[in-house]
Amino acid sequence: MYRTLSAYLKQKYGKKIKKICIDGGFSCPNRDGRCGVGGCIYCGERGAGEHIDPTASIAEQVRRGLESGRAEGYIAYFQSFTNTYASPEVLAERYSAALFDERILVLAIGTRPDCIDRDVCEILKKFQTKVDIWVELGLQTANDRTAKLINRGYTLDVYLEAARLLTEYEIPFVSHMIIGLPEEGEEDALRTAEVILDSGAFGIKIHSLYVMEGTRMADLYRQKLYTPPTLDEYVDRAAKVLALVGDRLVVHRITGDCPEGLLVAPEWNRDKSKVIDLIRQRLVTLSKS
Ligand code: SF4
Repeated sequence: MYRTLSAYLKQKYGKKIKKICIDGGFSCPNRDGRCGVGGCIYCGERGAGEHIDPTASIAEQVRRGLESGRAEGYIAYFQSFTNTYASPEVLAERYSAALFDERILVLAIGTRPDCIDRDVCEILKKFQTKVDIWVELGLQTANDRTAKLINRGYTLDVYLEAARLLTEYEIPFVSHMIIGLPEEGEEDALRTAEVILDSGAFGIKIHSLYVMEGTRMADLYRQKLYTPPTLDEYVDRAAKVLALVGDRLVVHRITGDCPEGLLVAPEWNRDKSKVIDLIRQRLVTLSKS
C-alpha cells in the first residue's frame, strides 16, 4: 500500500494528532503583483483557506482548534495564501502566536517555492528547536507549460532550488501536486511525482483539481475550455502515482476537498470517501497485475 500521514504521525508521536488550519494574515506574490496578479487559476478568494475564519487572531484560531479537537497533539498548519511571504520579524511573530500550548507538536507552513530563501530557512531553523517543522510547497505540476496555463508564476527550476535549500537546512518538506490540470494526462502526473521523489521531499499531497465558484477555472469550465477528469480517470492516475511512490514518501492526502457550497465541477468530488476507497481498490488491482 502506501504510507499514510496518520500512520506516520502515530508511529512518530504515539498518539492521535489533529491539524489546526490557520489563516496567518499573509498575502501571495502571485496576487499582489510581485510576480503576478489574479493568482493561480483554480485559487479562490481566500487562498485555500475558505473554511478558516480570517477575522479571528492567530491565537484565537488555534484556541478554537484546541477546544474543538479531541486529540492529544496538534499540528499548527499555516494554510491560507503564502505563509513565508513577509519579513523575518513578521514571520517570527506570527508563528510564535500559534505556539502557546505544549500540545502543539508540529508547525506546518504552506508556501510557494519562490518564497523560500536563506532568511526564511534561518527563521524556520530557530523554530525547529521548539517544535517539529515541515514546509508545504505548492508545486502542482513539473510541467512548465502547464504552469504557464495555470498562471503559477514560477518555473520548475525555482521549485528545485527551494527543495535544495530546504534539504541543506534539514527542514523537511511536503510537495503538493494536482491531478487533472488543463491539458495534462497520466504521463504528466507520473512525471510530477517522480520530480517530487527526486527532490528530497519527505511527503506528498495529491489533490484532485476541482472547479470552484469565483475562480478563473470556473469561467474556463463554463466556456467549455476545460473538462475535469472523470472519476475513473482520476482514480486510475492517483493509484498509479501511489504505486510509483510506494513507501518512499508519506502521503498526506490523495484527493481534493472543495469548500462547502462552492463546487462547480466535477460532481464526484462531493464524495471524498468513495474516491479514496476506489483509489485503494485500484491500487490493490495494480499491485496484482
Ligand atoms: S500560490 Fe497559492 S495562494 Fe497564491 S494564487 Fe496560487 S494557489 Fe493561490
